[in-house]
Amino acid sequence: MDPERSRRYLHAMGVPVWRLRGTDVDTREGPGPGPEEMEEILPPTHAGNTMISESAEPSDLGLDPPPQAVPEAIPTAGVAGIEWERLSETVVSCRACELCETRTQTVFGVGNRRADLMIVGEAPGADEDRQGEPFVGRAGQLLNLMLMAIGLEREQVFIANILKCRPPGNRDPRPEETLRCEPYLGRQIALVRPRVLLSVGRISAQKLLKTDDPIGKLRGRWFAFGPDEIPLTVTYHPAYLLRSPEQKSRAWQDLLKVARRLREAAGDSDTGTTG
Ligand code: URA
Repeated sequence: MDPERSRRYLHAMGVPVWRLRGTDVDTREGPGPGPEEMEEILPPTHAGNTMISESAEPSDLGLDPPPQAVPEAIPTAGVAGIEWERLSETVVSCRACELCETRTQTVFGVGNRRADLMIVGEAPGADEDRQGEPFVGRAGQLLNLMLMAIGLEREQVFIANILKCRPPGNRDPRPEETLRCEPYLGRQIALVRPRVLLSVGRISAQKLLKTDDPIGKLRGRWFAFGPDEIPLTVTYHPAYLLRSPEQKSRAWQDLLKVARRLREAAGDSDTGTTG
């Protein structure tokens, strides 16, 4: 990551930039690093390389339930083996829940289908519903800046949501809607096979991790997602950061973790190909 470039995007994000003496990449807001942040802004340590699996059973965290657990009443469950084109056609014509009555259009997901990083949000808002693309409103613009701060263009990652249709008035997704939409996201994750999953916001995190824990307890940690145990971490939703800019420095710490994990994963695969 080019430190100057990163600083420019952090500035645009509204994260006041601090430089720790003796380093050129470390940035944060506030009076100075606390012990928690210190770990993040120091060079990766051996301990930092260890993924903490929060799952007693990897399948607890997966979107693909075991075959016997798939209720026949979930009409979308059959997408498990299909390819991108059919998946996107299936989503476009989906009528599995009542959101199909109020949506302008479905919002499938966008980006690099072979991305190292996949971002999962909550559900389309008004702008996304109009344009058919996730994260295109103000929150999306901040998400783009956050990505650029860690050296990634929007086009390099894959972005999707828990729900493919907008809940009216941006209300929270209902359990039935999540249940029916879940197989679509599950298939997208299986097709992309990202090295890292970044869940943005409470709803996304709680649905992916199947927990009611508050986001404050979920962010800053690594989870093993699904049968492939994809490293998953959680950060604040950019819409929340727009309302609570004082939390941006924490989000930046989360992004640094993501960047580090991506670098490590790339290093691992380099070793694999050259070794
Ligand atoms: N918020 C989300 O969670 N997803 C979007 O696509 C837009 C806003």
